[in-house]
Amino acid sequence: MTADLKPSTDRIVRPDKDRFLNEDNPLEDMMSRFDRAAELLDLEPGLCKILRSSEREITLSVPITLDNGEIDVFTGYRVQHNTSRGPAKGGIRFDENVNLDEVKALAAWMTWKCAVVNIPFGGAKGGVVCDPAKLSVGELERITRRYTAGLIGVLGPDSDVPAPDVNTNERIMAWVMDTYSMHMRHTVTSVVTGKPVEMGGSLGRREATGRGCMMVTTAALEHLGLPVRGATLAVQGFGNVGSTAAKLLREQGCKVVAIGDRSGALHDPRGIDVEDAIAWVKAHRTLEGYDKGDRLTNDELLTLDVDVLLPAALENVITRKNAERVRARVICEGANGPTTAPADAILDDKGVFVIPDILANAGGVTVSYFEWVQDRGGYFWTEDVVNDRLGHIMQTSFRAVLDLSRKHKVNMRTAAYMLAVSRVAAVHRLRGMYA
Ligand code: NAD
Repeated sequence: MTADLKPSTDRIVRPDKDRFLNEDNPLEDMMSRFDRAAELLDLEPGLCKILRSSEREITLSVPITLDNGEIDVFTGYRVQHNTSRGPAKGGIRFDENVNLDEVKALAAWMTWKCAVVNIPFGGAKGGVVCDPAKLSVGELERITRRYTAGLIGVLGPDSDVPAPDVNTNERIMAWVMDTYSMHMRHTVTSVVTGKPVEMGGSLGRREATGRGCMMVTTAALEHLGLPVRGATLAVQGFGNVGSTAAKLLREQGCKVVAIGDRSGALHDPRGIDVEDAIAWVKAHRTLEGYDKGDRLTNDELLTLDVDVLLPAALENVITRKNAERVRARVICEGANGPTTAPADAILDDKGVFVIPDILANAGGVTVSYFEWVQDRGGYFWTEDVVNDRLGHIMQTSFRAVLDLSRKHKVNMRTAAYMLAVSRVAAVHRLRGMYA
């Protein structure tokens, strides 16, 4: 077992439970936004009841033999929120703080996200309560395989398709695919997305979320009549999403004036050399020690006077405590749930244009959809084709949400929820109630 197979703990997002408890529970947050959309759509009470519930919530024991020969039992979850539009889709997270409420919220978010970008999936999420930093690669592999085996009748290309999430990576998806395939007695690549490209993964998947953020940010700037060239940008989180979005926005002419990660943040009003910072993080894992700019705290980064703020790290970082001090004109939510529901109202009053997470970071699941399509068709696309098709979906979805927000005079988040909920509700009406 080589050390490089272990997911790096520096590239791990650890949901900060204190923040949830102090301000919002993610499930309540999601529900409050759903309720608002349902009210504006005048959704039938029966459909509200259906969409407020998960279709299936599974809690399972994941027993494994540890490297020291002892047996330990971990707790796993898989929640399918809604499968009316297609197979359930959603990541698997390995984290000490995973709990059923969080998995339920994340599963519902996936339903809305897939519906906003109009891809034929429902929403799911899964997780195992564990600390990967304390587990060997062998132990992680055994957890992954036992978790997959425990869900063998639930997962499947036509029923439930996992993907990587917090602390899980391509390697773990390869084990999910292998375990499932062993049970099916033949190779089934399309049971999971976010796989290595060598075994059915899609070109462009790794950059897809950041690329989608770039696409909707430039669309927002153009909509607001702000020039993309020279627009200033602050990015919280310099991992997969944040660093890719920063690099691609810089290529579009934006000036990245601040970046930050778990080690702190860096500010240079003349512009940060993003490629250079990415190379530093590749070599040193975090921005710690990188000194090409002035050091500042992550909270200071969030309140910088910039055109665009791109939170791409944690949940609940823009709260009622700091929303008043946010000075950005546009917020592009690369992370899931970076803004709490109370903060939404404050940002609205200040006239901040928020591109909500279920739209802004949907590039990842969109290219996961492409991966599933390619696996099922057995024919793989070039990276240019993937990026072109991603661009088409992100632009069409941005426009659809914007049109709805103008029509109903609501912000982009409410409009995105309205679009998503109306699409899921429409399918329920067409399908009718079974039995
Ligand atoms: P990542 O692990 O690659 O990067 C996370 C970054 O956040 C790192 O730079 C880390 O140092 C930083 N970070 C962690 N704790 C921090 C803190 N307290 N303060 C400031 N920075 C901190 O993760 P990622 O894949 O880039 O995901 C980032 C966010 O985007 C998550 O909310 C994730 O759920 C969301 N997201 C990711 C994808 C995807 O395809 N990767 C898709 C949709 C949504």
